Amino acid sequence: MKTPQNRSKVVIVGGGFAGIEVARLLAKNPLAEVTLVSTNNCFQYYPNLYRLVAGASANQVSIPLDKIIPKNVTLLIDTYIGIDLTQKAISLKSGSALSYDYAVLAMGSDANYFGIEGMEAHAQDFLSVKKALALRSSLLQKISDAKNLSEAEAKELLHIMIIGAGPSGTELAGALGPFLKEKAKKVGVNPSLIGIDLLDSSPRVLAALPEHASALVTEQLQKNGVTVYANYGVNACDEDFLTVTNKNTPEPTTLKMKASTVIWTAGTKISGAFATIPGVVMTEKKRVQVTSTLALPNDDSVYIAGDGSGTQYSGLAQTAIDQGQYLAKTISNRIAGVPVSDYVPQPGVFVIPVGKAWAILNKKQFVVSGLAAYIIRIIVDARYFLSITSIAQVISMLKKETS
Ligand SMILES: Cc1cc2nc3c(=O)[nH]c(=O)nc-3n(C[C@H](O)[C@H](O)[C@H](O)COP(=O)(O)OP(=O)(O)OC[C@H]3O[C@@H](n4cnc5c(N)ncnc54)[C@H](O)[C@@H]3O)c2cc1C
Repeated sequence: MKTPQNRSKVVIVGGGFAGIEVARLLAKNPLAEVTLVSTNNCFQYYPNLYRLVAGASANQVSIPLDKIIPKNVTLLIDTYIGIDLTQKAISLKSGSALSYDYAVLAMGSDANYFGIEGMEAHAQDFLSVKKALALRSSLLQKISDAKNLSEAEAKELLHIMIIGAGPSGTELAGALGPFLKEKAKKVGVNPSLIGIDLLDSSPRVLAALPEHASALVTEQLQKNGVTVYANYGVNACDEDFLTVTNKNTPEPTTLKMKASTVIWTAGTKISGAFATIPGVVMTEKKRVQVTSTLALPNDDSVYIAGDGSGTQYSGLAQTAIDQGQYLAKTISNRIAGVPVSDYVPQPGVFVIPVGKAWAILNKKQFVVSGLAAYIIRIIVDARYFLSITSIAQVISMLKKETS
């Protein structure tokens, strides 16, 4: 029997949506000794990274983990490199090893370029605060450089191609125009020289949403000056051109499209760190196969949470949070010797902003668009921040943004 003097060791890897949820909630259990390991000392709120590219402050999307994680959780900034299921130990890059009674692996995702020739080398992404800031600064530099060019040269330099019309690509496409045009005006560059294209191999933007929702979003993108290329598959990327296949013609045609900036938003894959788990089996969707309690099939003391877990709605922040809450309860029950219930996957709600003060909300066939959906998105973001950190921290984030 566990007592506060003889606590169960719980090691959580990954300070993202799933990991911090498990850590925060398990910290309330006096029978659990919780350690959180993460490579990054900040939690990054990915849903708002597009706003960082479009001018928001880094404080809006990034919170130091020590402002989130309760004091009784040991926080280690280190990198997981492997797990020994027999010894029940996790190895870290620093050379140390952590023994555990229960482990939760929640290392999230990396970019996936699907082996498209030249894409990784020539495209930019915004999958971290650092990359989002680098992308913003390269776009602003181009605006500044355009001042000294002829109109034709400036137009070429300010042509941006966003690949992937899923939520990230669509949100970025809607936000970039107003931001860059304002910056261009300020430095005396004609804003109409900025061109933003959004390209996807699916027949419509936001292909996971109902058709009428896609139509509303396409209209809104066009109002924001974005040109949508649906049914265009990308085959290769080099310094100056994208090679694409237009599938809208009776016979698909291959053509070259010139773009000075290529932004990749079309795919992620689960972190390569999951492949280090001995005996790991991947699902068809290339996530880790788990049992109905999110444990490894070959070891019920190791759980997989967030993007890595092979469950129905994995790949969403909402799913990762949900799984974090489920695992905190499941591990507490196991420590107490109480039976655990199965994890029940919950469908997510999409709220996708496009341009200023407009968003689309979708759950199953239910769709709302416009200002109301945009306000809901602000409330969802604020509620999440308030659930993980103090109101004082949220106010300080807002103050820093204003300044
Ligand atoms: C640009 C973008 C926009 C998105 N927008 C939305 C949205 O609007 N709505 C939505 O529901 N979802 C959205 N998502 C998806 C959502 O962010 C993910 O589903 C969610 O982050 C998954 O949570 P997680 O805990 O599995 O991983 P993450 O939140 O990615 O956290 C993983 C953590 O693990 C750490 N880590 C990685 N490798 C190691 C290692 N080897 N050792 C130690 N630590 C490690 C990382 O530093 C990170 O802190 C978006 C994703 C992106 C990239």
